[in-house]
Order: sequence, then C-alpha cells, then structure tokens
Amino acid sequence: MFIVEQVGMLPIFHAHTKDRELLALAFLRMQEHYESPRFRGKVFTHQEYRRWYTEERGSFSYVNDWSGFNVPSLAVRKVCYEFLNHSRQEKALFRELCETEVFRHQRFYLIGTCGTHPETLRHEICHGLYFTSRHYKDTARSVIKRYSLDELRRQLSTMGYHQSVHDDEAQAYAMGYWSSDMSVTREMRAFRKELRRELNPIYAALTAR
Ligand SMILES: [Zn+2]
Repeated sequence: MFIVEQVGMLPIFHAHTKDRELLALAFLRMQEHYESPRFRGKVFTHQEYRRWYTEERGSFSYVNDWSGFNVPSLAVRKVCYEFLNHSRQEKALFRELCETEVFRHQRFYLIGTCGTHPETLRHEICHGLYFTSRHYKDTARSVIKRYSLDELRRQLSTMGYHQSVHDDEAQAYAMGYWSSDMSVTREMRAFRKELRRELNPIYAALTAR
C-alpha cells in the first residue's frame, strides 16, 4: 500500500510504502524512462528491462540496489498513459496518485522512498526542489559551476546515472549522504560544505509546512 503526501508548498509529492519491492517495481519504468543509460526516452516492457539489468549486473537485484526514486511529471504521465501492461505495483501507485489528485497539477515532481528514512528522503526532496524551484536550482548551479567535480561525475556514471542528470545528482548527494559506493575526495567535501551553506536556508524555507 502507498501513502502519497505533498512536501511543503511546491508540487512535490512523496509516495512511500514499507514494501521495498512494491516501491521499486512501481517506480522502475518511470525512473528508467527518465534516466537510464539504455532505456532513457524509450517505451519498454518489464521483461526487456529485467533482461538488460540481469546482463549488466549478473542478477536482477534492482529491488535491493535502489531505495529512493525521483521522477518529473512527464515521466509519470508517459508510463501512466503510454506504456502497456501496467504491473500490479504500477497500478497501485497510479491509483493512489489519482486519489490524491496529483494529476491536477500540470507540472509536478514525484519522489518515492521505502518508509520515511530521513537521509533518503532528503536526497529525493532535493531532486524535487531542483525541479520545482528556480531559486533553488539557480543557487545550486552557481555553486556547481565553481567546481570541476570530474571524479564525482565519473562515479555517477559508474553507478548508472545518465550524464544529463549529473548536476542534479551531484547536488542531491551533497545535500544528503554520499552513497556507500562512492569514494569521497577533498573536492567533494569542499563542494558539499559550500553547497549546504547556500542551500540549507532555501531548503528549510521551501519544505516548511
Ligand atoms: Zn538521486
């Protein structure tokens, strides 16, 4: 079962459930349509994705590999209206989004977490703010521009992130926690410090209830 709630005043919606498999399989096609190096922008079936992921990683470990999800409304609508054969998990999520009238917003951002673990949630909310708040995004980008972040970008690529979302992931990881897969460089630490100094007050103001 999903619970869907709005975060702060912006059209950012948080879907959460205790069921990790439900979460991952509900978000999989939206997330991968949005940013997969292989399936970005494409319409695909669960079987196609499963086959590819298994070839890449040796087994279909998707549910254990990913615990937080973030997608703009475009990806949500695409899968909801144009992808065929919705899974049981996708149907459960779309039903809840309809019931909470999320689709009334022309442009929105959807994040998904398992439970409400604060560190995962903060990372995902930062994606939502980057998408829905001009002020937040401009401030983040002005800090990002002052660093090369070559090593961080290389690590993001290895983790499977498409180049088009590197800036967004850089700010979300720096505002939240570094992944256990990452090795943290001196530049990354300096970047995090400066970014948080600039963005923390904006984050607090935009997420206040
Ligand atoms: Zn992220």
